[in-house]
Amino acid sequence: MKTLICEQCGNTYIATRASQKYCSDECRLIVIKERGRLYNDKHRQKEKIDEQKKAKDAIGYINEKARESGMSYGQYRAKLMLKNMPKINTELANELKVKNV
Ligand SMILES: [Zn+2]
Repeated sequence: MKTLICEQCGNTYIATRASQKYCSDECRLIVIKERGRLYNDKHRQKEKIDEQKKAKDAIGYINEKARESGMSYGQYRAKLMLKNMPKINTELANELKVKNV
């Protein structure tokens, strides 16, 4: 038997297995959880960067389209929004009709 120092809490403990690194299951689970959290943080950060990149691409795309039709970015965005309006209005009208019945 060997006395070791827990890598999680720093307590000394007697290892019952050669591969044991932590004094208890509790410490082992804390480390496993922490590892998972770090992985998720990294993963989420990458997703965030990808989203930002995509948003940048979209702005670039809209800018290009706007220039093609001789409009500013804002004008083009407004035009796109108005283009989407009829659908919104139809949905609203349908909804109101249903409510009136
Ligand atoms: Zn421990």
